[in-house]
Amino acid sequence: MAYISGAAPWDGVRLGGNVTEDMIRARVRAMLSSGNLECDASARVWAGTGAGELCAACLEPIDPRSVEYEADLQGRTLHFHMRCHEIWLEECERDGNHH
Ligand SMILES: [Zn+2]
Repeated sequence: MAYISGAAPWDGVRLGGNVTEDMIRARVRAMLSSGNLECDASARVWAGTGAGELCAACLEPIDPRSVEYEADLQGRTLHFHMRCHEIWLEECERDGNHH
């Protein structure tokens, strides 16, 4: 059985610990195809400090010591870790090829 440590893997910008970029990427891709997450190339995005909101990509809270990206999608605000936001953008570009 895998041991899940309590350490937040998202402290700082390094990926490691229990959540890998591949896991986030797979989760983002699944949510995009199921409609739980959308893409909006015209979304306005702000960077700020985390306010404990849940990241739309990895579903982990965004620590106040981390950078938070806030995307304004037609009346819906999504919060991302810096790294998760990049992954979202990348997957949206990839997703765009299918439409
Ligand atoms: Zn995240």
